[in-house]
Amino acid sequence: MRTTPYKDVTRAKCERCGERAAYQWSGACAERRSRIVYHALCADCDREGNELTMTWLHGKAKAEEIMRGYE
Ligand SMILES: [Zn+2]
Repeated sequence: MRTTPYKDVTRAKCERCGERAAYQWSGACAERRSRIVYHALCADCDREGNELTMTWLHGKAKAEEIMRGYE
């Protein structure tokens, strides 16, 4: 678990699949409240993560519409 941002996230590995990372996500860690943790994700997993978040926020039909414009 990482609590400082990556200087160059492309030198890190994707936390989900081990591919070269392309993006970093930050979020408050549930276990250690108020601490920000950083996650490295590759382009594919980033896209998947966005799709999941969008489905959760907007529902599946709307999420698919948004993702078509996301490429
Ligand atoms: Zn990945």
